[in-house]
Amino acid sequence: TVRVRFAPSPTGHLHIGGARTALFNYLFAKKLGGSYILRIEDTDTLRNKDDAEEKLIRAFRWLGLTWDEGPDVGGDYGPYRSMERLDTYQPFLDKLVSEEKAYPCFCTKEELEAEREAAQQNGQTPRYSGKCRHLTKEQVQAKIDANIPYVIRFAVTGDNEIQFQDHIRGDMSFQRADIEDFVICKSDGVPTYHFAVTIDDSLMEITHVIRGEEHLSNTPKHVLLFEAIGAPVPEFAHIPLILNENGKKLSKRDETILQFIEQYHDLGYLPDAVNNYLALLGWSPGGEYNEEEIFSLDKLIQLFSLDRINKAGAIFNQEKLSWVNSQYIKAIELDTLIVLCKPYLENDKEYQEYLRQNELDEEEANERTRELVALFQTGMSRISDIVPLIKLFTSENALYDEEANQVLIQEQVPAVLTSFATKINELAEYTPSEIKKALKAVQKETGYKGKQLFMPIRATTTGQVHGPDLNQTLYLLGKEKVLSRVNHVQK
Ligand code: GLU
Repeated sequence: TVRVRFAPSPTGHLHIGGARTALFNYLFAKKLGGSYILRIEDTDTLRNKDDAEEKLIRAFRWLGLTWDEGPDVGGDYGPYRSMERLDTYQPFLDKLVSEEKAYPCFCTKEELEAEREAAQQNGQTPRYSGKCRHLTKEQVQAKIDANIPYVIRFAVTGDNEIQFQDHIRGDMSFQRADIEDFVICKSDGVPTYHFAVTIDDSLMEITHVIRGEEHLSNTPKHVLLFEAIGAPVPEFAHIPLILNENGKKLSKRDETILQFIEQYHDLGYLPDAVNNYLALLGWSPGGEYNEEEIFSLDKLIQLFSLDRINKAGAIFNQEKLSWVNSQYIKAIELDTLIVLCKPYLENDKEYQEYLRQNELDEEEANERTRELVALFQTGMSRISDIVPLIKLFTSENALYDEEANQVLIQEQVPAVLTSFATKINELAEYTPSEIKKALKAVQKETGYKGKQLFMPIRATTTGQVHGPDLNQTLYLLGKEKVLSRVNHVQK
């Protein structure tokens, strides 16, 4: 049965690239009824961040991509953090050394640096000369006895090509001559990523390694290691890079792109919308689904296959992702949307002030929230948009745009506003139906109707000439704001 893993290093927040890799692994496992494993690769101890694992797990839980085995839930193949597996790696290291497939290297940083420079000057690709491979057993023992620090290097021998099949890139082959004797254990006794990943994939019986294309050049090293320990080589699928709008590899400096899952959470994207968009980043279902863009997680599981992943890099389009999100927001129940909007509204001082100004009790305040959210459900591309959208009603002053200013210089405006202010002031109850009656009374009193009547009122109270139904707008603004804005324009 299929076993796949997502193996992040705990160095920071969950990146969209990592989330997509995890998603592809998840979809593949679920589709084939296999197991999806989370493994924390923390052997690069200098880069580890204390709370990174917690953050990763939180982001995954939010996305809903939960694993069958992992550091938090356990499993039969644990432990699931590399640094808790040092005892597991050691016998494999010892065996490789005793079989002379690996050897201690005592070269200092300075020696290695000098070698590298010399190679560069001669126009050669710098790589380790293999000097320490030729030390005798006695020489090695003498250096160890003298406490000279050493790393363990894998001896790349033979001259046949290293070949493997990649589900996305097809037949791959690499020349051994291009691979130096790479380090598999550092001088502090901690294995490198290359070694840990191979032992872990082997012992955890991983059948398919699905990971980012940036690891493609590491794979021949891993193939050599699988062979050296006598383990079967898993199948590979290297998924294409994520590119920015200019077709360049995504970098931390691309600030127009939200790169971390936490940002999506904070801004109010819906997890299924994020999964939906990420799934289509380098993969497409093809066939009858070619024109469709909205897929539930279940549907993605049903349709997913490795052979429909593209070779070419995938361009990340932030607007498209927001559009996908807006489709999900449109489709959810109003009650659910209200719950999602609440935290943003509770943190919005203007909105809180607005509720106070309108003297709404708790029940009325809830009803008001419902009305506002319903009004803007189709205009939101993320939940946090509710705050800027309701500014129309909650901000202290209206911002008058060009079109509104044009309306406000029309000759009937002073008469309309005077009458309007009086009628609104006289209202005992401030409800949409009472407001409607007031507008009728203004019409009767001034003789203006239609656009000539409504436009000045709309422009005065909202600063714009377009917007939701006028009665509803005046109602949602509240009496106090309506009157103060009229007052402002009259001055
Ligand atoms: N720990 C590696 C990373 O963070 C993952 C490598 C792999 O999937 O083999 O990129």
